[in-house]
Amino acid sequence: MKRHRPLDPDRQRAQMVRRDLVERGVHDPAVLEAMGALPREHFVDPGLAEAAYDDCALPIDADQTISQPYIVAVMTEALELGPDDRVLEVGTGSGYAAAVLARVAGEVVTIERHRVLADQATERLAALGVDDVTVVVGDGTLGWPERAPYDGIVVTAGGPTVPPALLDQLADGGRLVMPVGREWREQELLRVRRDGDRLVEEDLGPVRFVPLVGEQGWPDGDRSSTYPLAL
Ligand code: SAH
Repeated sequence: MKRHRPLDPDRQRAQMVRRDLVERGVHDPAVLEAMGALPREHFVDPGLAEAAYDDCALPIDADQTISQPYIVAVMTEALELGPDDRVLEVGTGSGYAAAVLARVAGEVVTIERHRVLADQATERLAALGVDDVTVVVGDGTLGWPERAPYDGIVVTAGGPTVPPALLDQLADGGRLVMPVGREWREQELLRVRRDGDRLVEEDLGPVRFVPLVGEQGWPDGDRSSTYPLAL
């Protein structure tokens, strides 16, 4: 009988980078390097570690998700980051995307509305020795003016519109990447580039994200009472 060999995360990670990123057109070397180096299994519940390199989002605490690796790569690549860029992430979740951003860019500020997730992410990032990331608890739809302006702003939850506060905190030449949609869980991924007073918007394709809940996002509360139930 063959002995059961536990899956090797390093091999799984290398396979994910090739199969789910490179073969689907992700080519930014810094993004591929970061995702080839960071242990995604470290950012999920130990019970889900074997699924850490699957081609899908996975559940985390507070009814939220860690995004599909391909989506993290597409969003990070779309930010066109350089090593000295300052980045704001709205929606820390597991902290995985923040770790990727920190490896690709310079300073990262990441905001999470659920304290339990922010605390877990802070611990995970520290355990991996990731510095240059500041985790903040709060409503990210209002941004984080203390460190503005940002060369890149990425929102990892879907809102009804791009929050004006985030556009105000985008540097000249800066890029904002965010899922926007009228439906609560169906969005188009938008990239907005600031050129002086002008904002140039591009649609990067359909995506599905958990909702952005906040003052300049969706209202908090039970959505089943806001939308009629389909019978
Ligand atoms: N980037 C994350 C994905 C997190 S999912 C990762 O790599 O794991 C989106 C996160 O956005 C959730 O944790 C959710 O709680 C958070 N979120 C939603 N609305 C928010 C808001 N207004 N401010 C900050 N975080 C918010």
